Amino acid sequence: MFVVLIVILLLPAYAYTFPYAAAENKQQRSTEEIFEARLELYNNLSVMTGLPWQWIAAIDQYERTMTKAKPKLRPKLGELTGIYIDEHRWAGQLNPDPKDEEVFSIEFFQGIGLDGDGDGLASRSNDVDLLYTVLFPVSQYGNTSEDIAIGLWEYYQNPRAVQRIQQFHQLYEHYDELNLFKHAFPLPIGNTYAYKDTWGDRRGWGGRRIHEGTDLFASHGTPVRSTCYGVIEIKGWNRYGGWRVGIRDLNSHYHYYAHLSGFTKELAIGQIVEPGQVIGWVGSSGYGKPGTSGKFPPHLHYGIYSDRGLIEWAFDPYPSLKHWENEERRRLRK
Ligand SMILES: [Zn+2]
Repeated sequence: MFVVLIVILLLPAYAYTFPYAAAENKQQRSTEEIFEARLELYNNLSVMTGLPWQWIAAIDQYERTMTKAKPKLRPKLGELTGIYIDEHRWAGQLNPDPKDEEVFSIEFFQGIGLDGDGDGLASRSNDVDLLYTVLFPVSQYGNTSEDIAIGLWEYYQNPRAVQRIQQFHQLYEHYDELNLFKHAFPLPIGNTYAYKDTWGDRRGWGGRRIHEGTDLFASHGTPVRSTCYGVIEIKGWNRYGGWRVGIRDLNSHYHYYAHLSGFTKELAIGQIVEPGQVIGWVGSSGYGKPGTSGKFPPHLHYGIYSDRGLIEWAFDPYPSLKHWENEERRRLRK
């Protein structure tokens, strides 16, 4: 009786004291449920098309990142899929009914919309129909990586789209799971470093026109770590950035690390990295021909660029850095 009473007394107090933790757990659960449902969807479409689920996941994730970049141009169509196809492409340019779902008339007007789930309708709000409409024509080229690259080129007519989907596929194939969105702070949390919000500051080092990034000051040789799961897209010398690395993640974000004193030995273009993995060391390289160093205090210049389909857009990495730093501090305290 006494124990029960204590539990009753404590329960509301617990709920009141940790509303943030409770909300976070709830969020995590539902995110995991979404990943589970998506994986099931991809597996079904894999059976229907013969394409490995990792390719299907990569295509879907690419479409999702495009929708995130242009939400107004790409309203959400399906429930679980990120695929977007506009009405005219779906129903056919000359179709008098742009909301047409009849398979035969869509085909007659040369629309691309297909019926994947077999209910007789090519529905632009149905996950299976949406995915099948993209995957079926791609699958017609075969199911090796080369075949799929050709199929993707035919569908998207955009080399960046093909490259992005290949990178995403590489990550899904390597880890064999969908939940690859954990992040880490680029410098080891225990080390001494300093950074502030310098977005648009002309006096920064390593950016392009105005300062596109955050300068994290730390001593020469401090390890620099990947902030995400990603694929090395660029590695080498750049006049302003010095020794720099560019990593692409599953959000189509390009993470740019500049002024390094060097790279870890095994680091290569096309290689997969994960959050917290050391990729190089803080230095002061840049502002001259390859090997130039010491023209400014050692620091890591960190930038994030978002792929918007045809162009890349820099955004302020400072809020993300603060967030990842706090998250890692919290993890270390546990
Ligand atoms: Zn900088």
